[in-house]
Amino acid sequence: MYQQRLERSTKPFNARGSKVSRCQYCQVAQQDCLCEHQPSPSDEVAVLLLVSDNEVFKPSNTGRLILDTVEEAFAFQWSRTEPEQDMLDLLNDPRYQPIVVFPDQYVEDKTRLIASDATSKDFQRKPLLILLDGSWREARRMFNKSPYLNALPVLSINPDQVSQYMMRRSDNEKHLATAEVASLVFQQLGHDRLHQTLAMWFDVFRESYLNSKTRNRRDDTKPALKAYLSARNEKSL
Ligand SMILES: [Zn+2]
Repeated sequence: MYQQRLERSTKPFNARGSKVSRCQYCQVAQQDCLCEHQPSPSDEVAVLLLVSDNEVFKPSNTGRLILDTVEEAFAFQWSRTEPEQDMLDLLNDPRYQPIVVFPDQYVEDKTRLIASDATSKDFQRKPLLILLDGSWREARRMFNKSPYLNALPVLSINPDQVSQYMMRRSDNEKHLATAEVASLVFQQLGHDRLHQTLAMWFDVFRESYLNSKTRNRRDDTKPALKAYLSARNEKSL
């Protein structure tokens, strides 16, 4: 999708951080490339990532980390008026139960909300979790202006879970990244291992991403990568 979008682009892409020479796949600096450490993907849930136009180009985008952890993972560029047929087919695929992930207080029709204690076992079909990948403003627009999402059930992350998570977090960032939202949703639905894998993979990415920033002082001990690799060796991921 990144390549496709690049080809469509009429102006050269010069976002912040574009001076760093990055691995085309994992988007961190070449010397920190994480591709060889890719997690083994889970088949417990399916994921559909709807990506806003701007988000595709951001090296800091974390949506792609979700795609690394789930076998049946699909990403589409969001369009209000011209949704891709493949995406619509996926929403109608009888193997899946499509579920939109969005905060409940912004959902007008409360009958769409899934009980906060529901797990994947409560669904007859494999959950297809639809994640809206973009800024909060873009995500709201995607949620409100996509007729093909209007009738689907909505899952909201438990606020207690979010605040617990925020307390453990090391930085002061107030918003959750898309990968963090997904990892909390996996936990809520009863997929502890997948939750753990994505949460640690996100830490690994963030660590390498910060190391790639020229302004930051490098930490070559890479504690997050070490923790991730040792969890994987112990087969707990
Ligand atoms: Zn790479």
